[in-house]
Amino acid sequence: MKNQVTIKSIEHATHDVLHIVVEKPEGMDFEPGQATEIFLDKLGWENEGRPFTFTCLPEDHYLEFMIKTYPSHKGVTNELLSLKAGDHLIVNDVFGAIAYKEEGTFIAGGAGITPFISIFRNLKKQGKLGSNKLIFSNKTKGDIILEKEFREMLGSNFINILSDETIEGVAHGRVTEDFLKTCGLAYDKSFYICGPPPMMEAVEKMLANLNVKKEQFVEEVF
Ligand SMILES: Cc1cc2nc3c(=O)[nH]c(=O)nc-3n(C[C@H](O)[C@H](O)[C@H](O)COP(=O)(O)OP(=O)(O)OC[C@H]3O[C@@H](n4cnc5c(N)ncnc54)[C@H](O)[C@@H]3O)c2cc1C
Repeated sequence: MKNQVTIKSIEHATHDVLHIVVEKPEGMDFEPGQATEIFLDKLGWENEGRPFTFTCLPEDHYLEFMIKTYPSHKGVTNELLSLKAGDHLIVNDVFGAIAYKEEGTFIAGGAGITPFISIFRNLKKQGKLGSNKLIFSNKTKGDIILEKEFREMLGSNFINILSDETIEGVAHGRVTEDFLKTCGLAYDKSFYICGPPPMMEAVEKMLANLNVKKEQFVEEVF
């Protein structure tokens, strides 16, 4: 069901990611990792819904999103760049494939981190972060969403890898089998994977080579 909501705040979380907080429609409920479809409240954009993930907790009295913007697509995320607090958006029903099952390894590429934000915040609140590991692949350090919060939550279980920037103490390059082997992963546990299609395909192949079974994958393509 579509609901019009007012934007409470809208600001940059990174150079190209917007942190948007909106009103929560009454009765709306979701599980950490789930998403909704967002529409602009603007003539001509009525049929242009785009999927975005809740990054807040289900019990919060607002909805929060982290949205990577693509001005060159001239689509919805480009339009979001010109919105301000007090403007409206339209949110639709809740859906999503990623849900927490058990301790394991989370692998995210860029905005693919978003389902894991709510999952990790929820685990932290419950004191259940345990030995979960997060591998987060980005182009540069400036692209890392919520770096400080993840570092504080996960310590050395937060592993960054940067493809386009070399920084001492941070892995450089793309996620490879050799890189995964250095991360001390539990190959018999769940692997939560979210990112763009080429990254997902590559990581699935690597994990299959490392004897991880398809049933251990919990994934969503962005
Ligand atoms: C379940 C799910 C949850 C998601 N959650 C989030 C989230 O929380 N945060 C987040 O940041 N993202 C998330 N995404 C990804 C997000 O939905 C897309 O980034 C978003 O739909 C892009 O919308 P857009 O209108 O700006 O651009 P698009 O819909 O990608 O593009 C608009 C038009 O631009 C053109 N175009 C497409 N690609 C290019 C290109 N490379 N160069 C030039 N033109 C192009 C096409 O003609 C297209 O019709 C999620 C995706 C899924 C499936």
